[in-house]
Amino acid sequence: MTWFVKEDGYELFFNRDERKSRSRAELPTSQVADGVQYLSPTDADAGGTWIAVNHFGVTVCLLNHYQFEQIETYKNWISRGEMVRKFATVASIAQVNRLFESLELEDYRAFRMFVIDPEGSNRLCVWDGHSGRIERNVTSPKSSSSVDARHVKSVRKSLFADLNLIDSKQADDYINYHASHLPSRSKESVCMHRDDASTVSLSHVSVSSHGVSFRYADGAPCQAALGPALAMRFVEALDSKRSTSAIKASSVPN
Ligand SMILES: [Zn+2]
Repeated sequence: MTWFVKEDGYELFFNRDERKSRSRAELPTSQVADGVQYLSPTDADAGGTWIAVNHFGVTVCLLNHYQFEQIETYKNWISRGEMVRKFATVASIAQVNRLFESLELEDYRAFRMFVIDPEGSNRLCVWDGHSGRIERNVTSPKSSSSVDARHVKSVRKSLFADLNLIDSKQADDYINYHASHLPSRSKESVCMHRDDASTVSLSHVSVSSHGVSFRYADGAPCQAALGPALAMRFVEALDSKRSTSAIKASSVPN
């Protein structure tokens, strides 16, 4: 997952990696919950989702947390994809904090959940199977791997820097990174290919004062092109407006 913040919003890119046994996800659709419209694809196996963007311009996405996966014991876990749906309607980062604190974390497998608002502030909610925490304003890129995680993450981070993406605000540069097979078509490449698992889709979310859009490549991004944009209007959240003016008034960098 990568993102960049722009004048009036942000763009976010997300490769989903899945085991080959997993069913193909359903294409993104527009949904409404608690009066809030959001765009998200649907996980065909569990019915939840791994990424959603709502009309307040808040995106929520789920990253695995393989390094700290709990010891396998039988348990009726709550699907993490259902949790993302629960967070899909939040109007602000403040709501994310409250909702995360209200979760019975013991009922979930380990996860990292990223949330970003239209001002570009973000939070990473982490449940490592033992304790929960919220990291504030983490930096791009974020990735996960069930194999050799530390090494794979460091390769992808170096590549992100080598391609000068830290300073880029060009969506095409990011899409190329997500489709890339550098340093080789393998577990290391951002477009990931292993015998048991691979990247199965790329999501591209764009949020600006003009609106919110979601583009989706239904397949490995080295082969499948992004489809047409699913779009909706942007609705300014009341409490985010207050926090923005407060930030501007005190000139505190966000
Ligand atoms: Zn590929």
